[in-house]
Amino acid sequence: MSSFEIRTRTGDQTVLEESLAEQLKKSLRGGLLRPGDQTYDEARKVWNGMIDHRPALIARCAGTADVAKTVSFAREHDLLVSVRGGGHNIAGKAVCEGGLMIDLSRMRGIAVDPGTQTARVEGGATLGELDAATQAAGLATTAGVVTHTGVAGLTLGGGVGRLARKYGLACDNLLSLELVTADGQRVNASATENPDLFWAVRGAGANFGVATSFEFQLHPIGPGVLGGVVLHPLEKAKRALKFYYEYSQSAPDELSADAFFLTSPDGDRVFAISVCYIGPIEQGERVLEPLRRFGPPLSEEVGPISYSEVQSAGDAVFPIGLHFYWKSHFLEEIADDAIEATVSHFASVPSPKSVLVFQQYGGAVSRVAETETAYRHRHAQYDNFPTSIWTDSQESEVHREWVREWWDMMSPFSIGAEYVNNLGEEGEDRVRAAYGDNYERLVTLKHKYDPTNFFRLNANIQPSA
Ligand SMILES: Cc1cc2nc3c(=O)[nH]c(=O)nc-3n(C[C@H](O)[C@H](O)[C@H](O)COP(=O)(O)OP(=O)(O)OC[C@H]3O[C@@H](n4cnc5c(N)ncnc54)[C@H](O)[C@@H]3O)c2cc1C
Repeated sequence: MSSFEIRTRTGDQTVLEESLAEQLKKSLRGGLLRPGDQTYDEARKVWNGMIDHRPALIARCAGTADVAKTVSFAREHDLLVSVRGGGHNIAGKAVCEGGLMIDLSRMRGIAVDPGTQTARVEGGATLGELDAATQAAGLATTAGVVTHTGVAGLTLGGGVGRLARKYGLACDNLLSLELVTADGQRVNASATENPDLFWAVRGAGANFGVATSFEFQLHPIGPGVLGGVVLHPLEKAKRALKFYYEYSQSAPDELSADAFFLTSPDGDRVFAISVCYIGPIEQGERVLEPLRRFGPPLSEEVGPISYSEVQSAGDAVFPIGLHFYWKSHFLEEIADDAIEATVSHFASVPSPKSVLVFQQYGGAVSRVAETETAYRHRHAQYDNFPTSIWTDSQESEVHREWVREWWDMMSPFSIGAEYVNNLGEEGEDRVRAAYGDNYERLVTLKHKYDPTNFFRLNANIQPSA
């Protein structure tokens, strides 16, 4: 009888009979891939081109029933499992090495109800698809700034974006979701159904099951908003970053302002402030006036623009398949010494593709109590992360080192934790810090819903003994 090797939940190798894989394949509507199959290499690719993980099996689920069958199969044979939403985790956690990957990329259905201003979204949809479907009805919900990010991973870890200051995180807009839990059961969670699970999935969701669909609250947005970018030369970046800090702190909830250090196409290092204002246009013009005036900037391209254009503006900076490395800090403020350190460190950036970002939080995000959802650090005002971006794998070390040096240098200014969704391989202490004082409650719930730590390739919470 022929067989093949596959990893178990704890990482050991075991042997599985071919006939069992064949049975699973026959039972799935979406199909099962093995190394050597025509679409196998495409299916295991993720956003970060550094990741080259090879699952022994890829279940291309076509619906919740496929997910439930795959989870039950994996549990029965004690297999290592990963779950792929949009494939954006920096360390490639969506794709397990040698185990069974549950691939949701065929489950991308989105149904918008303009009457109730809600959307039902399957677990493999991307943000670009969500924005396109909701904007067709003049609606939107909080989503991140790069269209090929997965709705699932983003929402389950929190989910910040241009609408967050007005309407809260993506997880704050979640009304309910359907999960397949570690016992292979379909479970719904909402404020009234399994409320403890609903609390946990809003910030620590990847630990609790495979989210097969999400129901979101939507809001009337656009299609026209005010948005764009102002640029300042690196020589003036210290003053401009200080201005950004003060300006963004006094901004109304309708304005989101992110700041970037980057290298322009003609090779100059520059500082950019990227804004999106979602309120009435005349009011927005007044709010944007100081931004337009300050400097004066090297260039200023802020004006009426579609919300969809704002939402896809980051795609060119983070293209699929290049090499990426980042580490991040949550900041409550941008202190003068942090400004000095940031500007001088960016001056030594080794790749013209790399960027250093301050993504603004605050507003409605901070008005939710820290114990209300598993997402904890609601007082953080900025997610601050340099992203090394390069193409030649021989050069990886120098680009990683640039990020690590920055991270050490900025540690004194950080709240001592980072965003769950930015975590890669930072280790257990940083995972705990990311959940903060909600960690103990999460351990109890992990024990209740996933006592064997079946879902472990994530910002992992260990169940209690
Ligand atoms: C270029 C880029 C831009 C980003 N911009 C933003 C931003 O603006 N705002 C923001 O908040 N975040 C942002 N992020 C971070 C992003 O939220 C995380 O990387 C998130 O985990 C991506 O989700 P995914 O589904 O694409 O990732 P995946 O790599 O597929 O999954 C990430 C984690 O979630 C788990 N998971 C995925 N789908 C499911 C599911 N259906 N059920 C259960 N578990 C699942 C995976 O197993 C894995 O542990 C960005 C990331 C990148 C790379």
